[in-house]
Amino acid sequence: MKGKIVYQTEPMKIEVREHEFSEEVEAGSVLLEVLQTNVCGSELHVFKGHHPTLKCGVIGHEMIGRIAKLGDNVKTDNAGNPVQVGDRVVPVYFVTCNQCRECLAGNLHHCIHMYKYQGQSGTFASYYTVHHDQYFFKVPDGVSNAEAASANCAFAQILFGLDKIHINPGDSIVIQGAGGLGLTACAVAKERGAKVIVIDSAPSRLVTAKKFGADELIDMNAYDTLDARVNRVKELTGGWGADFGLEVAGVPDAFSEGIHLVKQNGKYVVMGNITPGHTTAFDPGLLVRKAIEIIPANRYNPEYLYKSLQFLERNAGKYPFAGLLDAAFSLEEATLALEKSANREVTRATILVNK
Ligand SMILES: [Zn+2]
Ligand SMILES: [Zn+2]
Repeated sequence: MKGKIVYQTEPMKIEVREHEFSEEVEAGSVLLEVLQTNVCGSELHVFKGHHPTLKCGVIGHEMIGRIAKLGDNVKTDNAGNPVQVGDRVVPVYFVTCNQCRECLAGNLHHCIHMYKYQGQSGTFASYYTVHHDQYFFKVPDGVSNAEAASANCAFAQILFGLDKIHINPGDSIVIQGAGGLGLTACAVAKERGAKVIVIDSAPSRLVTAKKFGADELIDMNAYDTLDARVNRVKELTGGWGADFGLEVAGVPDAFSEGIHLVKQNGKYVVMGNITPGHTTAFDPGLLVRKAIEIIPANRYNPEYLYKSLQFLERNAGKYPFAGLLDAAFSLEEATLALEKSANREVTRATILVNK
Protein backbone atom coordinates (compact mmCIF):
# COMPACT_ATOMS: atom_id res chain seq x y z
CA MET A 1 0.00 0.00 0.00
CA LYS A 2 1.34 3.38 -0.93
CA GLY A 3 1.38 6.21 1.56
CA LYS A 4 3.58 8.74 3.31
CA ILE A 5 5.67 8.93 6.46
CA VAL A 6 7.19 11.95 8.18
CA TYR A 7 10.80 11.15 8.95
CA GLN A 8 13.16 13.14 11.17
CA THR A 9 16.68 12.77 9.74
CA GLU A 10 18.24 14.86 12.52
CA PRO A 11 16.93 17.41 15.04
CA MET A 12 15.02 20.24 13.29
CA LYS A 13 15.12 18.35 9.97
CA ILE A 14 11.99 16.64 8.67
CA GLU A 15 11.31 14.85 5.39
CA VAL A 16 7.91 13.75 4.12
CA ARG A 17 8.69 10.50 2.30
CA GLU A 18 6.68 8.25 0.02
CA HIS A 19 6.44 4.88 1.73
CA GLU A 20 5.29 1.40 0.76
CA PHE A 21 3.38 -0.05 3.75
CA SER A 22 3.27 -3.82 4.03
CA GLU A 23 -0.15 -5.44 3.63
CA GLU A 24 0.97 -8.19 5.99
CA VAL A 25 -0.32 -7.71 9.52
CA GLU A 26 1.20 -9.95 12.19
CA ALA A 27 -1.01 -12.02 14.46
CA GLY A 28 -2.24 -9.93 17.36
CA SER A 29 -1.48 -6.63 15.59
CA VAL A 30 -3.81 -4.10 13.99
CA LEU A 31 -3.09 -1.86 11.01
CA LEU A 32 -4.63 1.59 11.33
CA GLU A 33 -5.25 4.21 8.71
CA VAL A 34 -4.26 7.38 10.58
CA LEU A 35 -7.12 9.89 10.63
CA GLN A 36 -5.71 12.65 12.79
CA THR A 37 -2.47 13.12 14.75
CA ASN A 38 -1.34 16.03 16.92
CA VAL A 39 1.86 17.93 17.57
CA CYS A 40 2.28 17.24 21.29
CA GLY A 41 4.78 19.09 23.47
CA SER A 42 6.95 16.00 23.66
CA GLU A 43 6.99 15.82 19.84
CA LEU A 44 8.66 19.20 19.96
CA HIS A 45 11.25 17.83 22.41
CA VAL A 46 12.16 15.21 19.82
CA PHE A 47 12.06 17.75 16.97
CA LYS A 48 14.39 20.14 18.81
CA GLY A 49 16.76 17.30 19.76
CA HIS A 50 16.02 17.53 23.52
CA HIS A 51 14.81 13.94 23.90
CA PRO A 52 17.49 11.87 25.69
CA THR A 53 17.48 9.00 23.13
CA LEU A 54 15.17 9.73 20.18
CA LYS A 55 16.99 11.77 17.57
CA CYS A 56 15.72 10.42 14.26
CA GLY A 57 13.02 8.20 12.78
CA VAL A 58 9.30 8.35 12.01
CA ILE A 59 7.74 10.75 14.49
CA GLY A 60 4.32 11.22 16.08
CA HIS A 61 2.39 9.48 18.87
CA GLU A 62 -0.86 11.35 19.66
CA MET A 63 -3.54 10.05 17.28
CA ILE A 64 -6.83 8.48 16.30
CA GLY A 65 -7.03 5.93 13.49
CA ARG A 66 -9.44 3.68 11.66
CA ILE A 67 -8.87 -0.06 11.51
CA ALA A 68 -7.62 -0.97 8.01
CA LYS A 69 -6.72 -4.58 8.73
CA LEU A 70 -6.90 -6.91 11.72
CA GLY A 71 -4.18 -9.45 12.41
CA ASP A 72 -5.14 -13.01 13.36
CA ASN A 73 -6.67 -13.44 16.81
CA VAL A 74 -7.76 -9.82 17.18
CA LYS A 75 -11.49 -9.84 17.86
CA THR A 76 -11.80 -7.14 20.52
CA ASP A 77 -10.03 -4.08 21.89
CA ASN A 78 -8.32 -4.27 25.29
CA ALA A 79 -11.59 -3.61 27.09
CA GLY A 80 -13.33 -6.51 25.37
CA ASN A 81 -15.34 -4.43 22.90
CA PRO A 82 -15.72 -6.26 19.56
CA VAL A 83 -13.80 -4.56 16.73
CA GLN A 84 -13.95 -4.76 12.95
CA VAL A 85 -12.38 -3.07 9.94
CA GLY A 86 -13.54 0.55 9.76
CA ASP A 87 -13.85 1.09 13.53
CA ARG A 88 -12.18 4.17 14.99
CA VAL A 89 -9.65 3.35 17.72
CA VAL A 90 -6.90 4.99 19.77
CA PRO A 91 -3.71 3.13 20.78
CA VAL A 92 -1.52 3.52 23.86
CA TYR A 93 1.55 5.03 22.20
CA PHE A 94 4.10 2.90 24.08
CA VAL A 95 4.69 -0.82 24.58
CA THR A 96 3.76 -2.77 27.70
CA CYS A 97 5.56 -6.11 27.40
CA ASN A 98 3.99 -7.66 30.52
CA GLN A 99 7.23 -9.56 31.13
CA CYS A 100 9.78 -7.06 32.43
CA ARG A 101 10.28 -6.26 36.09
CA GLU A 102 8.33 -3.00 35.90
CA CYS A 103 5.38 -4.59 34.09
CA LEU A 104 5.30 -7.48 36.56
CA ALA A 105 5.20 -4.98 39.41
CA GLY A 106 2.18 -3.32 37.81
CA ASN A 107 4.12 -0.29 36.59
CA LEU A 108 2.97 -0.71 33.00
CA HIS A 109 3.79 2.93 32.28
CA HIS A 110 7.45 2.24 33.04
CA CYS A 111 7.89 -0.90 30.88
CA ILE A 112 11.58 -1.06 30.01
CA HIS A 113 10.67 -1.94 26.39
CA MET A 114 8.22 0.95 25.99
CA TYR A 115 9.97 2.54 23.03
CA LYS A 116 10.73 -0.72 21.21
CA TYR A 117 9.07 0.41 17.96
CA GLN A 118 9.71 4.11 18.21
CA GLY A 119 11.49 5.57 15.23
CA GLN A 120 10.41 2.61 13.07
CA SER A 121 6.75 3.52 13.27
CA GLY A 122 5.14 6.82 14.21
CA THR A 123 1.74 8.37 13.78
CA PHE A 124 2.83 11.13 11.38
CA ALA A 125 2.12 8.65 8.59
CA SER A 126 -0.66 7.33 6.39
CA TYR A 127 -0.74 4.05 8.33
CA TYR A 128 0.30 2.99 11.82
CA THR A 129 0.66 -0.51 13.25
CA VAL A 130 -0.62 -1.21 16.75
CA HIS A 131 1.59 -4.11 17.79
CA HIS A 132 0.42 -7.07 19.88
CA ASP A 133 2.11 -5.59 22.97
CA GLN A 134 0.30 -2.25 22.70
CA TYR A 135 -3.14 -1.60 24.17
CA PHE A 136 -5.84 -0.01 22.02
CA PHE A 137 -9.46 0.99 22.59
CA LYS A 138 -12.48 1.62 20.40
CA VAL A 139 -13.67 5.23 20.30
CA PRO A 140 -17.34 5.68 21.33
CA ASP A 141 -19.60 7.04 18.57
CA GLY A 142 -20.38 10.19 20.55
CA VAL A 143 -16.72 11.25 20.68
CA SER A 144 -15.40 13.17 17.66
CA ASN A 145 -12.04 12.59 15.98
CA ALA A 146 -10.76 15.92 17.27
CA GLU A 147 -11.76 15.08 20.86
CA ALA A 148 -10.32 11.57 20.71
CA ALA A 149 -7.07 12.61 19.01
CA SER A 150 -5.63 13.93 22.30
CA ALA A 151 -6.85 11.03 24.42
CA ASN A 152 -3.80 8.77 24.12
CA CYS A 153 -1.38 11.34 25.47
CA ALA A 154 -2.66 14.56 27.06
CA PHE A 155 -5.97 13.31 28.41
CA ALA A 156 -4.87 9.93 29.74
CA GLN A 157 -1.81 11.61 31.27
CA ILE A 158 -3.98 14.03 33.24
CA LEU A 159 -6.45 11.38 34.43
CA PHE A 160 -3.58 9.20 35.60
CA GLY A 161 -1.89 12.08 37.44
CA LEU A 162 -5.07 13.31 39.09
CA ASP A 163 -5.97 9.79 40.23
CA LYS A 164 -2.83 9.86 42.38
CA ILE A 165 -4.56 12.45 44.55
CA HIS A 166 -8.07 11.85 45.72
CA ILE A 167 -10.07 14.98 45.08
CA ASN A 168 -13.26 15.25 47.08
CA PRO A 169 -16.00 17.80 46.46
CA GLY A 170 -15.00 21.07 48.08
CA ASP A 171 -11.25 20.47 47.84
CA SER A 172 -9.18 23.11 46.10
CA ILE A 173 -6.52 22.56 43.46
CA VAL A 174 -4.07 25.05 42.00
CA ILE A 175 -3.03 24.27 38.43
CA GLN A 176 0.20 25.85 37.20
CA GLY A 177 -0.05 26.24 33.43
CA ALA A 178 -3.10 26.53 31.16
CA GLY A 179 -1.79 24.70 28.08
CA GLY A 180 -3.43 21.52 26.77
CA LEU A 181 -2.62 19.53 29.90
CA GLY A 182 -3.70 22.31 32.28
CA LEU A 183 -7.01 22.88 30.51
CA THR A 184 -7.79 19.17 30.51
CA ALA A 185 -6.95 19.10 34.22
CA CYS A 186 -9.40 21.96 34.83
CA ALA A 187 -12.25 19.93 33.37
CA VAL A 188 -11.34 16.71 35.20
CA ALA A 189 -10.84 18.45 38.58
CA LYS A 190 -14.08 20.37 38.08
CA GLU A 191 -16.03 17.16 37.43
CA ARG A 192 -14.62 15.81 40.69
CA GLY A 193 -16.03 18.77 42.56
CA ALA A 194 -12.87 20.77 43.15
CA LYS A 195 -12.50 24.51 43.36
CA VAL A 196 -10.11 25.06 40.44
CA ILE A 197 -7.50 27.84 40.55
CA VAL A 198 -5.34 28.34 37.45
CA ILE A 199 -2.09 30.27 37.15
CA ASP A 200 -0.67 31.34 33.78
CA SER A 201 1.05 34.34 32.22
CA ALA A 202 -0.92 34.29 28.95
CA PRO A 203 -4.26 36.12 29.34
CA SER A 204 -5.78 34.28 26.34
CA ARG A 205 -5.03 30.91 27.94
CA LEU A 206 -6.70 32.05 31.16
CA VAL A 207 -9.83 33.03 29.24
CA THR A 208 -9.88 29.51 27.77
CA ALA A 209 -9.35 28.01 31.24
CA LYS A 210 -12.72 29.49 32.28
CA LYS A 211 -14.40 27.50 29.51
CA PHE A 212 -12.77 24.36 30.90
CA GLY A 213 -14.18 24.87 34.35
CA ALA A 214 -11.63 27.09 36.13
CA ASP A 215 -13.19 28.97 39.05
CA GLU A 216 -10.38 31.42 39.73
CA LEU A 217 -7.66 32.77 37.45
CA ILE A 218 -4.32 34.15 38.55
CA ASP A 219 -2.62 36.18 35.84
CA MET A 220 1.12 36.26 36.49
CA ASN A 221 1.29 39.74 34.93
CA ALA A 222 -0.95 41.09 37.67
CA TYR A 223 0.40 38.84 40.44
CA ASP A 224 4.01 39.17 39.40
CA THR A 225 5.85 37.92 42.49
CA LEU A 226 5.87 34.64 44.37
CA ASP A 227 4.46 36.36 47.47
CA ALA A 228 1.64 37.95 45.49
CA ARG A 229 0.62 34.57 44.05
CA VAL A 230 0.91 32.79 47.41
CA ASN A 231 -1.24 35.44 49.07
CA ARG A 232 -3.83 35.25 46.30
CA VAL A 233 -4.07 31.45 46.57
CA LYS A 234 -4.47 31.80 50.35
CA GLU A 235 -7.20 34.41 49.89
CA LEU A 236 -9.04 32.01 47.62
CA THR A 237 -8.72 29.06 50.02
CA GLY A 238 -9.75 30.53 53.35
CA GLY A 239 -6.16 31.34 54.29
CA TRP A 240 -4.92 27.76 54.02
CA GLY A 241 -3.33 27.33 50.62
CA ALA A 242 -4.60 24.81 48.07
CA ASP A 243 -5.31 21.22 49.11
CA PHE A 244 -3.63 20.04 45.91
CA GLY A 245 -1.24 21.39 43.32
CA LEU A 246 -0.58 20.30 39.75
CA GLU A 247 2.47 21.43 37.81
CA VAL A 248 1.87 21.38 34.06
CA ALA A 249 3.87 24.50 33.22
CA GLY A 250 7.00 22.62 32.16
CA VAL A 251 9.17 25.26 33.81
CA PRO A 252 11.61 24.26 36.60
CA ASP A 253 10.83 27.39 38.67
CA ALA A 254 7.13 26.47 38.69
CA PHE A 255 8.11 23.32 40.59
CA SER A 256 9.92 25.33 43.27
CA GLU A 257 6.89 27.61 43.58
CA GLY A 258 4.39 24.78 43.91
CA ILE A 259 5.18 23.91 47.51
CA HIS A 260 4.49 27.53 48.47
CA LEU A 261 1.00 27.40 46.95
CA VAL A 262 -0.07 24.07 48.44
CA LYS A 263 -1.22 23.90 52.06
CA GLN A 264 0.48 22.02 54.87
CA ASN A 265 0.00 18.25 54.40
CA GLY A 266 -1.18 18.89 50.86
CA LYS A 267 -0.24 16.90 47.77
CA TYR A 268 1.57 18.16 44.71
CA VAL A 269 1.56 16.33 41.37
CA VAL A 270 4.46 17.20 39.07
CA MET A 271 4.00 16.42 35.40
CA GLY A 272 5.10 19.25 33.13
CA ASN A 273 8.85 19.16 33.76
CA ILE A 274 9.96 16.20 31.66
CA THR A 275 13.42 17.18 30.43
CA PRO A 276 16.25 16.09 32.76
CA GLY A 277 19.14 18.47 33.32
CA HIS A 278 17.12 21.63 33.94
CA THR A 279 17.38 22.79 37.54
CA THR A 280 15.85 25.31 39.91
CA ALA A 281 16.52 26.70 43.40
CA PHE A 282 14.36 24.66 45.81
CA ASP A 283 13.53 25.08 49.51
CA PRO A 284 13.70 21.57 51.05
CA GLY A 285 13.20 22.94 54.58
CA LEU A 286 9.84 24.35 53.59
CA LEU A 287 8.91 21.03 52.03
CA VAL A 288 9.69 19.12 55.24
CA ARG A 289 8.01 21.63 57.54
CA LYS A 290 4.86 21.69 55.43
CA ALA A 291 5.02 17.90 54.92
CA ILE A 292 3.88 18.18 51.34
CA GLU A 293 3.80 14.97 49.36
CA ILE A 294 5.34 15.40 45.91
CA ILE A 295 4.05 12.96 43.31
CA PRO A 296 5.68 12.79 39.86
CA ALA A 297 3.63 11.34 36.99
CA ASN A 298 4.99 10.43 33.57
CA ARG A 299 2.98 8.37 31.03
CA TYR A 300 0.00 6.36 32.27
CA ASN A 301 -1.31 2.90 32.91
CA PRO A 302 -3.27 1.81 29.79
CA GLU A 303 -6.62 1.68 31.60
CA TYR A 304 -6.49 5.49 31.76
CA LEU A 305 -6.84 5.73 28.00
CA TYR A 306 -10.08 3.77 28.26
CA LYS A 307 -11.23 5.99 31.14
CA SER A 308 -10.41 9.09 29.07
CA LEU A 309 -12.70 7.97 26.27
CA GLN A 310 -15.46 7.34 28.78
CA PHE A 311 -14.98 10.80 30.29
CA LEU A 312 -15.17 12.40 26.84
CA GLU A 313 -18.33 10.45 26.01
CA ARG A 314 -20.01 11.27 29.33
CA ASN A 315 -19.18 14.98 29.12
CA ALA A 316 -19.67 15.41 25.36
CA GLY A 317 -20.20 19.04 24.47
CA LYS A 318 -19.64 20.27 28.02
CA TYR A 319 -16.04 21.40 27.55
CA PRO A 320 -14.49 22.59 24.25
CA PHE A 321 -11.92 19.79 23.90
CA ALA A 322 -12.07 19.81 20.09
CA GLY A 323 -11.17 23.52 20.20
CA LEU A 324 -7.85 22.74 21.91
CA LEU A 325 -6.54 21.93 18.44
CA ASP A 326 -6.25 25.44 17.07
CA ALA A 327 -4.53 24.84 13.73
CA ALA A 328 -4.88 22.05 11.15
CA PHE A 329 -2.29 20.94 8.62
CA SER A 330 -1.93 18.19 6.03
CA LEU A 331 0.74 15.48 6.31
CA GLU A 332 2.76 17.29 3.62
CA GLU A 333 2.75 20.37 5.87
CA ALA A 334 4.23 18.51 8.87
CA THR A 335 7.37 20.67 8.92
CA LEU A 336 5.26 23.81 9.01
CA ALA A 337 3.10 22.33 11.79
CA LEU A 338 6.19 21.56 13.89
CA GLU A 339 7.85 24.91 13.23
CA LYS A 340 4.75 26.95 14.05
CA SER A 341 4.30 24.89 17.22
CA ALA A 342 7.97 25.32 18.17
CA ASN A 343 7.64 29.10 17.65
CA ARG A 344 4.43 29.11 19.73
CA GLU A 345 2.46 30.56 16.81
CA VAL A 346 -0.12 27.83 17.46
CA THR A 347 -1.03 26.13 20.74
CA ARG A 348 -1.73 22.59 19.59
CA ALA A 349 -1.43 21.79 15.92
CA THR A 350 -3.22 18.82 14.42
CA ILE A 351 -2.49 16.94 11.21
CA LEU A 352 -5.47 15.75 9.20
CA VAL A 353 -3.82 12.89 7.39
CA ASN A 354 -6.19 12.52 4.46
CA LYS A 355 -6.68 16.23 3.95
ZN1 LIG B 1 2.37 13.45 23.86
ZN1 LIG C 1 7.52 -4.43 30.32
